[in-house]
Amino acid sequence: MSDVTNRVRGNLAFIEPYKPGLSDETLRRELGNRRIVKLNSNENALGPSPLAIEAIRKELPRLHLYPDGASDLVREAIAHHHGVSSEQVLVGNGSDDIIKLISETFLEPGDEIVVPHPSFSQYGFGAQVMDANIRAVPLRSDFTYDVDALAEAVTSRTKILYLCTPNNPTGTVLKQSEFESLMARVPEDVFVVVDMAYDNYALAEDRLRLRPEELRRGNVGFLFTFSKLYGLAGLRVGYLVANADVVQFIHRVREPFNVNRVAQVGAIAALQDIEHVRRSQALASEARFQYGRLAEQGIRVVPSEANFCLVEVGDGRAVFESLMRRAILVRTGFRGLESYVRITFGTREENDACIAALLDVVRNPR
Ligand SMILES: *Cc1c(COP(=O)(O)O)cnc(C)c1O
Repeated sequence: MSDVTNRVRGNLAFIEPYKPGLSDETLRRELGNRRIVKLNSNENALGPSPLAIEAIRKELPRLHLYPDGASDLVREAIAHHHGVSSEQVLVGNGSDDIIKLISETFLEPGDEIVVPHPSFSQYGFGAQVMDANIRAVPLRSDFTYDVDALAEAVTSRTKILYLCTPNNPTGTVLKQSEFESLMARVPEDVFVVVDMAYDNYALAEDRLRLRPEELRRGNVGFLFTFSKLYGLAGLRVGYLVANADVVQFIHRVREPFNVNRVAQVGAIAALQDIEHVRRSQALASEARFQYGRLAEQGIRVVPSEANFCLVEVGDGRAVFESLMRRAILVRTGFRGLESYVRITFGTREENDACIAALLDVVRNPR
């Protein structure tokens, strides 16, 4: 038997396939037609932006045409939204696509990336694909950033430092002042990627935010997505805002038509959908309050600036399974967080149902 599998790149042996939260389709297959409360993937409980749906419908008759390869109109809309120039914006097939593009742009075998831990797994994935090494720096015990440890983890081999704020799966944020002191200690040839997938849910005044003048630094990029607040996870659009010189290089590894036609029009429309944005933010604020009250019952909830929260439950796996039997889906299995479940904020009713079930399960473990 000739075996091409012997010739795949060696580093692929170490890549564990991404384990997403169970998909809607899988759940329906497993749980039948029961109503499922899906709180496992940080999706928007209000659904997609209605303006996006309308724009996508109108675009369908043009599906025989290739999309605009550079996503020019999307970049212009995003540039306007953040007060930057469109040369400072790169659009991707989800921000996952962009994490991989950044990895391909910078990483050679043996290079290093520095990531916080626990955080989003895709940063490490990008490094593994490129045969680069991952240095994970633990968050403090209250899940805030340890700026000293991050700065000390950077070596001459470090090409990329990832930050995620609000951080997935903890919901905690990096402060502007912490970012400043970190940047003062990180060499200028390390690309610092700040993943802000949940920033448009955050309220903390002192958190790090994208300010256009920040882009004068050549070595910082801010990553955003349409998957969460805008409710378009199934459409796949994310973007990077960074110094134009860096963006030019990342474009070189981008596929020529990486963002499809309906994704482009949907993203532009969602960005203008102020009402959907406000309703989504208000729902998250209310949910924060709902879950925050678990503390009165003696259950630790990590204060979150995102659209989910981390709840300490004892045996995360057991609680996950008990909730699953009640058709409530949460997320567990984050390395180092075995005693927690991560719960995405749902509608008010979904949150009430989840909280009631959680209290029952924690008090009456089987
Ligand atoms: C959900 C999420 C993203 C978004 O990924 P997409 O590929 O845009 O759907 C990015 N970063 C973090 C931390 C996330 O949780």
